[in-house]
Amino acid sequence: MPTLLQTEIEFLKGVGPQRGELLRKEMGIHKFVDLLQYYPFRYVDRSVIHKIRDITPITQYIQLKGKITNFKVVGTKSSKRLVATFVDDTNQLDLVWFQSVDWIMKSLKPNVEYLVFGKPTIFNSEYNISHPEVELYTEEIKSTGKGLQPIYSSSEKAKKKSLDSRGIMRLVRTLFEQVKERDIPEFLPAEILSKYRLMSRYEAMLNIHFPKSEALLNEAKRRLKFEELFIVQLQMLKIKSNRDEVSKGFLFEKIDNKFDKFYRENMKFELTGAQKRVLKEIRKDTLSGKQMNRLLQGDVGSGKTVVALLSMLMAIDNGFQASLMAPTEILANQHYESVMEALKGTGVEVALVTGNVKGKARKFILENLAEGKIDIAIGTHALIEDGVVFKNIGLTVIDEQHRFGVAQRAKMWGKNRLTPHVLVMTATPIPRTLAMTIYGDLDVSVIDELPPGRKPIRTVHRADAHRLRVFGFIKEEISKGRQVYIVYPLIEESETLDLKHLMDGYESVSRAFPKPEYQVSMVHGRMRAADKDFEMHRFVKGETDIMVATTVIEVGVNVPNASVMVIENAERFGLAQLHQLRGRVGRGAEQSFCILMTGFKLSNESKQRISVMCKTNDGFVIAEEDLKLRGPGDLEGTRQSGNIDLRIADLVADGNILAVARETAQALLADDPSLTKPGHQTLLRFMDEVSKEKIWGKIS
Ligand code: ADP
Ligand code: MG
Repeated sequence: MPTLLQTEIEFLKGVGPQRGELLRKEMGIHKFVDLLQYYPFRYVDRSVIHKIRDITPITQYIQLKGKITNFKVVGTKSSKRLVATFVDDTNQLDLVWFQSVDWIMKSLKPNVEYLVFGKPTIFNSEYNISHPEVELYTEEIKSTGKGLQPIYSSSEKAKKKSLDSRGIMRLVRTLFEQVKERDIPEFLPAEILSKYRLMSRYEAMLNIHFPKSEALLNEAKRRLKFEELFIVQLQMLKIKSNRDEVSKGFLFEKIDNKFDKFYRENMKFELTGAQKRVLKEIRKDTLSGKQMNRLLQGDVGSGKTVVALLSMLMAIDNGFQASLMAPTEILANQHYESVMEALKGTGVEVALVTGNVKGKARKFILENLAEGKIDIAIGTHALIEDGVVFKNIGLTVIDEQHRFGVAQRAKMWGKNRLTPHVLVMTATPIPRTLAMTIYGDLDVSVIDELPPGRKPIRTVHRADAHRLRVFGFIKEEISKGRQVYIVYPLIEESETLDLKHLMDGYESVSRAFPKPEYQVSMVHGRMRAADKDFEMHRFVKGETDIMVATTVIEVGVNVPNASVMVIENAERFGLAQLHQLRGRVGRGAEQSFCILMTGFKLSNESKQRISVMCKTNDGFVIAEEDLKLRGPGDLEGTRQSGNIDLRIADLVADGNILAVARETAQALLADDPSLTKPGHQTLLRFMDEVSKEKIWGKIS
């Protein structure tokens, strides 16, 4: 049954087809409900009445009370305007109208008390207010006051059709004449409302538009933010619980000889406490009988790979295959080589599946995968191409997950009769609030401890003008046997320009570091994969001293002997990327350095980014800063998620409300998983409506 709120906006009194079109196109307001949820972005306090003498050159909006003593029409035609003298007991000023002059002149009366609201400007060194809001100072206003006045965002086009903030406000007023309490029913269960002292939905809607006081406005905001975050969490948790119910998971019951052999004989280090904890969590999941969907967060260099490897060995010990998927060819190669090395003598069969593995080799590998003769397949997205079939894959690990789209992941699970356990590893820590919202249906593990003996990377900011000194420093490091990265930005829109920068850079580096004393490698996205691998390989083996590269080396590459990371045009990188790049050094026992090169002129935001980088090495801190600087919409890995299109809640500022909303949603579902108990049905109906409107970012 279509409700009043589902009425098309053009049928609201005062709208009509033309303005309806504008509201739709310019503001995305299609129906009554959209206008109801078109919240003001700020408010002007009209609870106080000021005096004319209080006006200063910086006064924005002001509310005055007084009388009009005199008015006259000045000028003709296009310069025709109405000027009224307005006085209170402190001073006087002019009210000016350029439009509807005759009509306004007729409606204004001398010597009655008016309430006037507007923005003072200075004209001929006198204050005046043009097109003020004028209304009679009634008994009602005298007793209840005007509260806060909403300010709505609008567009230039809409303003021309008098759909400026004031015009929109009028429409919302009209809306509330029609829409009553019964049209905005409560759907939050009573026990939640009373536990958190939330105002009703109707009251909140009314007060978000027309708050009678600051306190009521804050209560309205709190209620609506809670509601919004609560619904998102409920959706997420329902997806998760539905999946837990339906999707049985493989049992990894044994810890057997492959795991043991690797752990006892091949592993070169002791696991950190955090790594052990995460492995226990994974072990618990794979013994639960349900399918695991776990997100593993850990800062660069925290040792996620060995956790993945041990998990894969658990799968293999129980007769399953496993796969490890990386976002780039280079990274897949590197994983392949390090896993081969790590598993020497264990009898585990490992194969590489990338776009580069072709012909007979590919055919051989695919056959063996299908027959179950290969235990671990490592590769790129080539792993999820048609024709790649596993006999019985029990675990799939996705490294640096943000490079993979949701669809790609879904495709991979689709290959099995039973969905394999899934371990998603992120390259960049995600702020807690964001993780709860985007990955709210995954279980989260965190490695919050670096392997022992790491020296924190020292990060400095250097201006381009000091390049010679930087080169001198690099020479010192190379003379100690270290290796160096020099990275250039790569921005898709101007790939040619970037390539030129890179080439120029390479030339100047080659000149400053001449053969045969120095060996310089170069890697960029336009190179053939084979050439890229070749160059990368030389650097990994220590045959070259300097790697000049674009961000293709950003993710995952592990060369412990590299101790200097120079980032050119550092101002062009985002925080997450800078942190990733920096994570390429500091992997060995030596002191490492990150040098951020920029020009002299920097925007404030760039300055802030650089200063955050120089101050901290902590990826979680950096992620929080990134969220603050850019907002959630721009964070890497979040673009494909619909869940961050929030209307009122703010993932940066409302972390506390979010945590409560998630807890509350969890408790509610624990008590009533299908939301069918009395008191929950309105909520269930509301959720159904929401999910019809919106396809929630499905993770798996
Ligand atoms: P990331 O989490 O960024 O993927 P890696 O898994 O590549 O990190 O690990 C970084 C480096 O730390 C590797 O050289 C790895 O062998 C080493 N490492 C991992 N865990 C430990 C540990 N517990 N003790 C010592 N070194 C470790
Ligand atoms: Mg890694």
